Amino acid sequence: MAFLVHDARDLARRPRTVAGIERARASKRLWRVDLLQAGLVTSIAIAIALFLADGGGTRFATPGAAITSLGIIAGLVATDLVLVMLLLAARVPLIERAVGHDASMGLHGKLGKPVMYLLVAHGVLLLAGYALSDGIDLVAEAVSIWSLPDLPLAILGFALFALVVVSSLVAVRRKLRYESWHLIHLLVYGAVLAALPHQFSVGGLFAEGTWQRWYWMAITIGTLAAVVAFRFVAPIALSLRHRLVVAGIDRVDHDVVSIRMRGVDLDKLGATGGQFFIWRFLAPGQWWQAHPYSLSAHPRGNELRITVRALGTGSADLMGIRPGTRVMLEGPYGIFSEASRSRRRIALVAAGIGVTPIRSLLESASFRPGEATVVLRTPAANDGWLLDEIKAIARSRGATVITVPGPRGTTGWLTDSAAREGLSLAALVPELDDTDVYVCGPRGWSDAVIVDALSSGLKPEQIHHERFDW
Ligand SMILES: Cc1cc2nc3c(=O)[nH]c(=O)nc-3n(C[C@H](O)[C@H](O)[C@H](O)COP(=O)(O)OP(=O)(O)OC[C@H]3O[C@@H](n4cnc5c(N)ncnc54)[C@H](O)[C@@H]3O)c2cc1C
Repeated sequence: MAFLVHDARDLARRPRTVAGIERARASKRLWRVDLLQAGLVTSIAIAIALFLADGGGTRFATPGAAITSLGIIAGLVATDLVLVMLLLAARVPLIERAVGHDASMGLHGKLGKPVMYLLVAHGVLLLAGYALSDGIDLVAEAVSIWSLPDLPLAILGFALFALVVVSSLVAVRRKLRYESWHLIHLLVYGAVLAALPHQFSVGGLFAEGTWQRWYWMAITIGTLAAVVAFRFVAPIALSLRHRLVVAGIDRVDHDVVSIRMRGVDLDKLGATGGQFFIWRFLAPGQWWQAHPYSLSAHPRGNELRITVRALGTGSADLMGIRPGTRVMLEGPYGIFSEASRSRRRIALVAAGIGVTPIRSLLESASFRPGEATVVLRTPAANDGWLLDEIKAIARSRGATVITVPGPRGTTGWLTDSAAREGLSLAALVPELDDTDVYVCGPRGWSDAVIVDALSSGLKPEQIHHERFDW
């Protein structure tokens, strides 16, 4: 037998014809996503409009003027997008709740290279445009504009931005420790500040008294204020308010522990199963690093719990964390939770340590007996992290647990024997077309589950996944 059904499969299913709450919640969230996307496009349009409203439309008469105008537009759009990138990474609650941390950081990452190309275009086009208009060669023009106010500082800003983008290229990033990469990434704030003065001192677009100047100052200050508020002040305020300490540690395996933490007013966090926090354990040698871990239990009273696998130095240190250690937290983040529900039924699919948010989501998700299926890829039958807890919750809530035990398959997300038997998500999960599928596990494995779900005809809005890598 390629898979094992643990319980509840035969529970009588009380029909529920309308999945009104789930659909209404999904459409509200998707409406917010549309609004944010519209905001992004509008901000680019306004950046271009600033130039056109300053008579930019008339500055295309000669080749030199046209190239200069394109250079100015490239700079305006690039700067606008840098601010968008900062907002996407600022953990603004509105963005986090609408698109989730994964998707906002995904877009943040995707914008890096195009913005760098726009910044290069800005510099090259302006140099060429000025040279053509002045009737001198590029080198002479470069020497002459070097003396423009704040230009050397702007070039330093570009160099810092380029360093951040290069350090984020997959091939380079893989070679860096997370903390080193993160430190380099912080240079982006220096890049923004260094590039700021030349925007106001070179050219007349942002001259004193113009509405363009006020608008540009407002979006720049607003973005930097959001970063300071949500990335720095909010976590400190949250940690001071909730006074979290390690209450106990339960060993799950030789390299996996569950860490229970207690604090004050934790219900006010509004956290729910499937979400994650960024945790900083204030122990010697650990206080300087913060790591994301999902809740492995739905928050109860004043207790939060995570389950950590030792995958590197930071997580290995947590294996020996002592009760009483103070903990700083940032969050809750993510929409790998009820917030993403769009259908009546739910399927929770996990492998490895990806079981943690699945375990807490099983506790917090709303479903009736018979409407939830948990599918776990485990090393052996009845062997899997948190499996006993999951079976107990499933029994009490009327969910079905299916384990697919065995070594990794050569292709797909199932074992080779399960694949030979023709198993698929649709074969394991009843009424899959009316189901939200939540997937968490190693990247390649999760991708294979998602491909299976899509090929079974599920819509993208029904598939939700959490990635543990960066
Ligand atoms: C949203 C999310 C939820 C997670 N939930 C869990 C969980 O419930 N249980 C669990 O065991 N693991 C979880 N992880 C993975 C966990 O964060 C990493 O294993 C841990 O940070 C590794 O740090 P390290 O110092 O031990 O290893 P390192 O050697 O520093 O890194 C090992 C790998 O971990 C990743 N990583 C390290 N630091 C971070 C960071 N700050 N942010 C993102 N990725 C990082 C990188 O992919 C890196 O290649 C989660 C990750 C994310 C992004």
